[in-house]
Amino acid sequence: MNSFSYFRPGDVDTAVGELATHEGAKFIAGGTNLLDLMKENVERANRLVDINRLALNTIEDTDEGGLRLGALVTNAETAYHEKVETRYPLLSQAILAGASAQLRNMATNGGNLLQRTRCYYFYDTQTPCNKREPGSGCGALNGFNRIHAILGTSGQPAELRCIATHPSDLCVALAALDATIRVTGPLGERTIPIADFHRLPGDEPWRDTTLQPGELVTAIDLPANGFPDYHTYIKIRDRQSYAFALVSVAVGLEIQEDRIADARIALGGVAHKPWRKPEAEAMLVGQTIPDADFRAVAQALLAGAVGYGHNTFKIELAHRAIVRALQRAAKLEPEV
Ligand SMILES: Cc1cc2nc3c(=O)[nH]c(=O)nc-3n(C[C@H](O)[C@H](O)[C@H](O)COP(=O)(O)OP(=O)(O)OC[C@H]3O[C@@H](n4cnc5c(N)ncnc54)[C@H](O)[C@@H]3O)c2cc1C
Ligand code: SF4
Repeated sequence: MNSFSYFRPGDVDTAVGELATHEGAKFIAGGTNLLDLMKENVERANRLVDINRLALNTIEDTDEGGLRLGALVTNAETAYHEKVETRYPLLSQAILAGASAQLRNMATNGGNLLQRTRCYYFYDTQTPCNKREPGSGCGALNGFNRIHAILGTSGQPAELRCIATHPSDLCVALAALDATIRVTGPLGERTIPIADFHRLPGDEPWRDTTLQPGELVTAIDLPANGFPDYHTYIKIRDRQSYAFALVSVAVGLEIQEDRIADARIALGGVAHKPWRKPEAEAMLVGQTIPDADFRAVAQALLAGAVGYGHNTFKIELAHRAIVRALQRAAKLEPEV
């Protein structure tokens, strides 16, 4: 274990200032991911800035008719909040499909956005990993890659390849809902659409997000439409609880008189970020229930998918999961 100092600021400006003036400092919220990574010597923060005293722990209505989730509200408080349960049940479902009750009581919304990949080689400092040590190689490419990505992995130079997935459930629902992330940093406040918050690995696989150094996530804004009537979250995993998604699908549909007026589909467990393809969603608009061609939509969403051996099964699995999720969201088959 490397030694580190600890500081607990009382306001956002001081917290942001701490990171700006201390190279190697990191924010800590619930600690459920960061502390594990520090124990494994993957993260080597020299100063922990504990943000738990900041006033970022409320859920409030927005002027636009949506909901603002504070970065420090826990995953459990969010999932069981009355307004989330009734207006954004897709989000509740996704959160409750993740981790365990104990972890959800500690894990915060901001920390969930910034949790790191569960790639085994990223955690194992004895193996090469371009995300942990740029240029060292990728242990997963020719290794045991059952949990790895099938989409968005091509394009980077060979010496910087990364096929890791983003492990969050919450973020898949946020992607389907078109959430916006509010951040404060050394240069002030800004907002980032969730679609632009997480990155594909590209030629910088060590960068998971588009956050700039020292930026603090303060809240997540949900737009007014939470698809409360037609939605579902399907998570397929090796164990029924306490396991990350092999494939997950978040669907929100707007259906008027048996005709689809709006459709959102986001996939988890298949890419370095929650995966959406607006062209595939547009294929559903105007189609009628029960005649909509869900298989064609799944095909379009998965266009370009590539397997690496142990994870090749995910392509067919994702196809079936998308079709099933659309059927459930459209109420053509019951929730289980
Ligand atoms: C055994 C296990 C199983 C799990 N299963 C699942 C699962 O199935 N699905 C799922 O979605 N998750 C799962 N998780 C992950 C869990 O949800 C995350 O660890 C948690 O959400 C992280 O939140 P935290 O507050 O504890 O973050 P921390 O561990 O405190 O921080 C994580 C990272 O975020 C940064 N950070 C935290 N808050 C902020 C902020 N406001 N602004 C900027 N940076 C910030 C920290 O610097 C750190 O880099 C699992 C975790 C474990 C240990
Ligand atoms: S997939 Fe990414 S995180 Fe995993 S070993 Fe390869 S470079 Fe590292």
